[in-house]
Amino acid sequence: MKNEIIYLDHAASSPMPDDVIDAMSVCLHQYYGNPSATHTAGRKARVLLEESRRKVASLLGAKPSEIVFTSGGTEANNAILWGIYYGLDRDTYISSRLEHPAVLQTLSALERHCRAKVLFVNTDNKGHVDLNHLEELLRDNPRSVVSLMHANNEIGNLLPVKAVSDLCRSHDGLFHSDTVQTIGKFHIDLASSVFDFVVGSAHKFHGPKGVGFMFIRDGFLLDALIRGGSQERMLRAGTENLCGIVGMAKALEWQLSGLEATQKYIASLKAILMDRLQSMFPTAIFNGDPQGRSIYSLLNVTLPLQMAGNMLLAHLDMLGICVSAGSACASGSVGGSHVMKELGIDDTAPTIRVSFGKTTTPQQIDLLLDALKSLT
Ligand code: PLP
Repeated sequence: MKNEIIYLDHAASSPMPDDVIDAMSVCLHQYYGNPSATHTAGRKARVLLEESRRKVASLLGAKPSEIVFTSGGTEANNAILWGIYYGLDRDTYISSRLEHPAVLQTLSALERHCRAKVLFVNTDNKGHVDLNHLEELLRDNPRSVVSLMHANNEIGNLLPVKAVSDLCRSHDGLFHSDTVQTIGKFHIDLASSVFDFVVGSAHKFHGPKGVGFMFIRDGFLLDALIRGGSQERMLRAGTENLCGIVGMAKALEWQLSGLEATQKYIASLKAILMDRLQSMFPTAIFNGDPQGRSIYSLLNVTLPLQMAGNMLLAHLDMLGICVSAGSACASGSVGGSHVMKELGIDDTAPTIRVSFGKTTTPQQIDLLLDALKSLT
């Protein structure tokens, strides 16, 4: 166990399979031309870029013209929220306090710099959005932009997206969802889906870091956040990260193949972990709604151990186990987790987020449990 890393932090980032690394390696070796150049090497790179766009689009049921490549989920969320403000003439946003900082801090900047109105919908003690309150806010503020994440990255709660979208439609609202944690985890058909704008980040579904995309439904002409070139149909200037994009397309394909079996497999690992934690620590508190509306790949638990959360993480790390203290950002910050605070949970408590992927094994769960036992 000593030299082997037990990696149970897939919601932070996930390992790349050989298929993805091989596709990127071919790209790195052979596709060095600038996709905007008109010579042979440039055109060759352009063909690969557009092939990757078609692949990502078809895996998600979108049109290629609706997919804009970015440097990841953070940029995509920023670009959509700013792009709507300047491009679609909307200035009221409805969100929740449990969103990722990529959304919360962007909304706060829109409020400070542009005097946008930002309203927060109530959430209950499990972290679910209060739909009656959302309806009230939309009724009082028609034409709002609703920005609510599909799955919460710290506690795993799933948003009832159809209900949210119906409310948006009835009040002339727009629906943006941070889908970073759900792209690749569910079959999402964007053509028939309820979203107007979603985002993806390759490293959350076994692709490389620093690359992602935004889906902008046809018909919405957003203003560009990053300017200075005509790439991505003027929506995101800058030479495309071609090999990252190739890796992302391959990773999405890899992740979505056999998805039903993967979902069942990972859900069974989560159930086993929950069960065994419950017997080992009868007073453990499972945060969020793990047996209700929750993503199958993540479990957040506060354990009755006599140590602070950061000490627990450090001990587990010394035992070769990588889990997170809520979210990757929260674990690295001094301020603690805003989600835990919002749920009324002491954010210094020994809370861990365990998140699984296609490559997680039952033995890794056993090793985590052994490690936790050794800390009692
Ligand atoms: N949104 C959510 C829900 C996330 O979990 C993350 C990453 O942790 C991001 C956005 C940021 O994505 P990226 O790392 O690609 O910038």
